[in-house]
Amino acid sequence: MALLNLDEIASGVEKTELAYLREMTKSHDEANIIKVIPEKRTHAYLVLDRTIFHPKGGGQPSDRGVIRTSLFEVNVKKALYHRGIVVHWGKIVRGTPTIGPAICEIDWAFRYLVMRKHTAAHLLDHCLATATSSLVETTDSWLEEPCYVGYAGRVPNEQTLHLVEDNANRMITAGGLVEIEFLTPTEGRALLQDAPNFERLPDLEEIRTVTIAGCAPIPCGGTHVADISEIGKLSILRAEPMPNLAFRLHFSVQV
Ligand SMILES: [Zn+2]
Repeated sequence: MALLNLDEIASGVEKTELAYLREMTKSHDEANIIKVIPEKRTHAYLVLDRTIFHPKGGGQPSDRGVIRTSLFEVNVKKALYHRGIVVHWGKIVRGTPTIGPAICEIDWAFRYLVMRKHTAAHLLDHCLATATSSLVETTDSWLEEPCYVGYAGRVPNEQTLHLVEDNANRMITAGGLVEIEFLTPTEGRALLQDAPNFERLPDLEEIRTVTIAGCAPIPCGGTHVADISEIGKLSILRAEPMPNLAFRLHFSVQV
């Protein structure tokens, strides 16, 4: 992707309605294309009034998919978030993209796997905190390959890792609802003081929390499964020591 100035692309348009925050299982949508910036005739940047494409961020990779009408089709390779705007970048496979109504479709198989991994990552936060009887502080995470959550602190021993994995799988087998809530910043701050990634939350008018039944709420802008039973078998692959007394828990979910 050419490094076109995102400021320029995002300028002069209304903030994008982030439909994926509330409609996490929506794989098809109708939206209006409000800005088109072509790139070398083969690619284009598109801005919509609303989007189901989750942009890259918070450890979650960008959705991919298609945006089309009867006259053109763009194969979306990346969605990026910039100052309240989601910019979709992709290859033009038919026609010439123009402003107006369009059909959006995300690669659902890819997204659903990411959702399962994202909820699994939150479950790991909980199970690690339980196994170590302490608050956990996440440093970063990535949900594609390699798939991991990063934590501050010393690498847990094998026994602890087994405990975390067993507990997570027991909870997955039992099942539990994953609830999404929208709070005002004041409500959010009060509720989330101890949450693992509170500081990493962007400055928002509202704070979105994700709560697995029986676990503490976590501020998060990602997409999640509705029930942890959807995660399937979770495996902790290894704990990788990182500089400055931190580590990454590499994990996978059964495909
Ligand atoms: Zn999250």
